[in-house]
Amino acid sequence: MPLRREADHWVWVGGPVPPGSDAITIGPVISVRRAAAGDAHLMRHEQEHVRQWRELGPARFLRQYLGAYVRWRVHGYGHRAAYRLIPLEVEAEQAAVDADGAAQTPPRPDRG
Ligand SMILES: [Zn+2]
Repeated sequence: MPLRREADHWVWVGGPVPPGSDAITIGPVISVRRAAAGDAHLMRHEQEHVRQWRELGPARFLRQYLGAYVRWRVHGYGHRAAYRLIPLEVEAEQAAVDADGAAQTPPRPDRG
């Protein structure tokens, strides 16, 4: 079964992903390349997109996401730069970084 349920979303390992990307989130479904499925940071980033989709709804998510991308492209930024500057991408990346830190086991105090 390629589609598996995880908490509040679905993960489709080996599902369709745009060229140059490792994963894409559409609503509650994260589609990820097989080679990237074990990347915890990437999956946390995509889980934030799941949250954004849920919070904004499809119309607002797509309007904000694509609107920002098009604005940066019109201002002369290349694809990669425009993508990285999309506020929903910046927010997802920050949430992933924060979750990475929270997932770390706190270091044990050295009692030696
Ligand atoms: Zn993203």
